[in-house]
Amino acid sequence: MFPNGTMKALTLSYDDGVEQDRKLVEVLNRYGIKAAFNLNSGIQTGANHWAGRDTEGHEVDIRRMNVRGLKELYASHEVAVHGLTHPRLETLDGETIRNELEQDKCNLERIFGTAVRGMAYPFGTYNAQVRAIAGDCGLAYARGVNSTYSFEIPPDLLEYQPSCHHADPRLMELAERFINLKPAVPQVFYVWGHSYEFDTGRNWPLIEEFCRFMAKRDDIFYATNAQALLGV
Ligand SMILES: [Zn+2]
Repeated sequence: MFPNGTMKALTLSYDDGVEQDRKLVEVLNRYGIKAAFNLNSGIQTGANHWAGRDTEGHEVDIRRMNVRGLKELYASHEVAVHGLTHPRLETLDGETIRNELEQDKCNLERIFGTAVRGMAYPFGTYNAQVRAIAGDCGLAYARGVNSTYSFEIPPDLLEYQPSCHHADPRLMELAERFINLKPAVPQVFYVWGHSYEFDTGRNWPLIEEFCRFMAKRDDIFYATNAQALLGV
């Protein structure tokens, strides 16, 4: 059971610490919905940027934020590990995998002044060695990118997969199913994405509508990932 006495938790997860997170946080805060923001502290700088394209072919600037001000921006949310430099972890040797996770965790704990327990695998990919090192580094959950279309909490939180991506055509169908659910055991509706995808997909109203639909319900615990999965 969750702290508000319910069996249902909603949590979101957004990767890469980009400028569009500012607008996403504003929307989430307005509705009291919480997320984990997964950051690459080794490249958390406005100097790290790339060009995307929106659905009409216009260029979209995708730029990581500078560190100053992030503690305030993410104050109502959780920050979590996403690798020091966003590598494909499973291609690296063990010492380098450890460096990517341990140093990112350590930097985030220093910058945000809080314990960091979670992670999203960069690119969503991992292997048995990566998973084991994540556990050794003190991470208690880690997320991939494969939709389960389910709200079940898996036995191994270091192989957590989300319910779905925010742009999944089944998002609102899942939302309705979750609203109508009367579960006997804790269930987590877990949605992930990148905030810049609302610019490239030209679909900011989608997250606004989703939040409006899900918010302010007595039987839902609006949780960070750590609150939903670890109870902290
Ligand atoms: Zn990423």
